[in-house]
Amino acid sequence: MRNHIVAGNWKMNLNAAESQKLIEDLKSKKLSSDVRVAIATPAVYLATAANQTANSKIDVAAQNMHQADSGAFTGEISASMLKSIGVHTTLLGHSERRAYFHETDELLAAKVNTALKNGMEIIFCFGEELDERKSESHFDVVTTQLRNALFHLDASQWSQIILAYEPVWAIGTGETASPEQAQEMHAHIRAVLAAQYDDALAQSISILYGGSVKPANAQEIFSQPDVDGGLIGGASLKADDFAAIVNAF
Ligand code: PEP
Repeated sequence: MRNHIVAGNWKMNLNAAESQKLIEDLKSKKLSSDVRVAIATPAVYLATAANQTANSKIDVAAQNMHQADSGAFTGEISASMLKSIGVHTTLLGHSERRAYFHETDELLAAKVNTALKNGMEIIFCFGEELDERKSESHFDVVTTQLRNALFHLDASQWSQIILAYEPVWAIGTGETASPEQAQEMHAHIRAVLAAQYDDALAQSISILYGGSVKPANAQEIFSQPDVDGGLIGGASLKADDFAAIVNAF
């Protein structure tokens, strides 16, 4: 269902004490009741984070999971492991996973299938690189990413999918897509979904924007009609900033 969602992606930051403190600080903030809030912590903190947030409005998400159900995959984490500690949501396809860990659309399609088979919700990340934006192929790139990883799904499976459009050139760079650029791409994504499925499905999907969202720009970005929220990296590591972004709706 289409919701306002603000999700934090902590990436590989904070030690255990800092993680626990950030969650306690967030829990002490007044967070808009109209906005769903999630934090994707490093994997080692997920179980503690799930316990800490059990009676709060904050959901805990993984940053990644493996495509196999179990087996000889040293260092990896499965969907059933996540579920067994109370984590039911995972990011998939973050641009850093694609760039540094060579995650392809095909691999992501396999991860999507495994996550859905295990009843997980997915925040699926995608977006174009700077050269693709400059060469004006960004709409095609995004369409292809969606087609390759998600368009094999039945319409009913999309109830478990949240999309996060993250132009790579705006992630961790301080560079933000303008509200108009975000809206233009989100409208494109909805049109592609409507063409592949139907308008009802396209209107039911939450599409988040990610890329240097901060308290100073969140309101303008979130006011765009097809922007349903944000995936927040750097600014999710400070309780005050993250709460201000949540409350920017
Ligand atoms: C991200 O990592 O998903 C992200 C959007 O990072 P930042 O907000 O730091 O650009």
